[in-house]
Amino acid sequence: MAKWNDTRFEGSVNISPYTWKVKRTDSTLQSNPGCVGCILLLDSEISLKDGLSMGADWSVLFHEIMHGLVHVIEEGELGENEKLLTTMGNAIFNMLMDSEGFLEALLREKKRREREREGY
Ligand SMILES: [Zn+2]
Repeated sequence: MAKWNDTRFEGSVNISPYTWKVKRTDSTLQSNPGCVGCILLLDSEISLKDGLSMGADWSVLFHEIMHGLVHVIEEGELGENEKLLTTMGNAIFNMLMDSEGFLEALLREKKRREREREGY
């Protein structure tokens, strides 16, 4: 069981029509030693370096999600701008963290959609 202060996301990131399984590993990063994360756009995998601080883990995850987003919206050339992706990823993360009640409202919206789909 994870420690209380281990807030790493475990699971898959879905950006329709793609799904990327998030993994902590060094194996897929070995060919690129300076790299702390990568997204294998066509292999359904986001790899993050194992052992990052919680803050860095989230930051790198959001950076890789930004790579996924620009791939999905077919603006792949934006993915070459690493600084933009880091800035946007951090901005979205901070907005989610700093907007009181935002995440809770998203969860309520998710539940509403689920109920609507189930025909309530
Ligand atoms: Zn990148």
